[in-house]
Amino acid sequence: MCGFISILAPDGADVVQDVLTGLLAIQHRGQDAAGVVTFGDKFQAKKGLGLVRDVFEQRHLARLTGHMGVGHVRYPTVGGGEDTDVQPFWVDYPVGIAMAHNGNVTNFHELRRDYFLKHTPQARLASNCDLEAVLYVFAGVLFQKRADRLRGEDVRDAVAEVFRVVKGAYSVVGIVAGAGMFAFRDPFGIKPIILGKKDGPDGPWWAVASESVVLDVAGYQPVRDVEAGEVIWIDNSRRVQSFKVSDRPHRPCIFEHVYFARPDSVLDGISVYEARLSLGESLAKAWKKSGREVDVVIPVPESARTAAQRMAEEIGVPYREGFVKNRYVGRTFIMPNDKQRQASVRHKLNPIRVEFEGKRVLIVDDSIVRGNTMRQIVRIARQMGAAEVHLASYSPPLLHPCPYGIDMSTKREFIARGRTHEQICAELGCDSVVYQDVQSMVEAVQTAGGCAKKFCTACFTGDYPTGDITEAMLADIEADRLAASGRETS
Ligand code: AMP
Repeated sequence: MCGFISILAPDGADVVQDVLTGLLAIQHRGQDAAGVVTFGDKFQAKKGLGLVRDVFEQRHLARLTGHMGVGHVRYPTVGGGEDTDVQPFWVDYPVGIAMAHNGNVTNFHELRRDYFLKHTPQARLASNCDLEAVLYVFAGVLFQKRADRLRGEDVRDAVAEVFRVVKGAYSVVGIVAGAGMFAFRDPFGIKPIILGKKDGPDGPWWAVASESVVLDVAGYQPVRDVEAGEVIWIDNSRRVQSFKVSDRPHRPCIFEHVYFARPDSVLDGISVYEARLSLGESLAKAWKKSGREVDVVIPVPESARTAAQRMAEEIGVPYREGFVKNRYVGRTFIMPNDKQRQASVRHKLNPIRVEFEGKRVLIVDDSIVRGNTMRQIVRIARQMGAAEVHLASYSPPLLHPCPYGIDMSTKREFIARGRTHEQICAELGCDSVVYQDVQSMVEAVQTAGGCAKKFCTACFTGDYPTGDITEAMLADIEADRLAASGRETS
């Protein structure tokens, strides 16, 4: 997962402030690295490892001039850890193109091995980042067009070639130097991407971002989500063109609603906040079936709060904040190894004894992936004197690697894989565990959106919507992840 924003404003304007405001609003989508590329009369760039607030200083803003800009925050999936992999990427010649993406190219290794070497034997990809594959396939088509008279149809052709060659899930934004801004979403529309607009004295400013919260915070009105398989081209005179390049079924990632997106975002017309309320309501039904009773419902902060509140209301038990989160410790999930992750849960979540002592507690989280967080949490709850510790996850057991860019790519790490609920319970040390089932999860999100939209639920079901995920691809991705985290493959 990553986050981006791209802006096209009238000539003479400076977009960098809005780009940075937008990036701060999607810092949750990636804390590993951040970058901005702007264009006025030439590309200006600043990229670095770390949080947006650490990478950018006042002196960089003065340099990042121009009426076009692209910004990115990175959460490493393919590549990662290296300065060379920080987005946006750009090429200067023969057409200037800057680009950023969110997603994962599933045939990146194959493209590196075969496509690029076959087409241009002298070419060498400079980074380990799969965006390079998208950029060079896209640029390869535009290089054959007249850069001074670039048309929407040329951009459409370039995206059609990307769709033909590059497999996986990717939402992409970018600018073509002096010519315009483009945005496109993979044929199945797995990753979110939304178009927005604001009015300025010299005409409209257009923005495209990963989540609607970016537009809200940066002062843009959401216009609409980019459709699956659609490309949008906005030229320098800010004329908007749209082309539907593919008509595969739209299958947005349901995990965005479960965990990833901010609750104040609306994705493809569905409020993430309302989806989480609805997920909590339906989890309450599953819990009631267990026939168990508890004294208090406690969320694992932050993402589980909304669902836990609704769940507590539904089962008629007080909702309490039993853990205080230290906001200044990074997401535990991204720590490179299990040992560090386990230690950091305690650094991040400190319990409030009075909410546990002598009580039967129900702890609610969005998901249980490896079980590291929950194992620690159960231990802490017991140390605080809880009489019983029950767990509820408002998403189903995670069982299958996500090849589309959510960092949960190694099968053997899933705690639920090959275990019954009783065995999971024993592993986590809790008294019981309840999961939402897949159908209830999907229906809960549909209810929130008042629609019958279908989703990518591959990490729960193994049903990959792109239909082209092979064991070899999963093995490549797993090897990448393990290499990136410094662990050994076995
Ligand atoms: P684990 O400790 O491995 O079971 O991770 C579960 C915790 O990580 C939950 O509290 C989630 O909120 C969070 N989480 C789930 N999926 C992800 C992800 N892909 N990236 C970062 N955090 C995640």
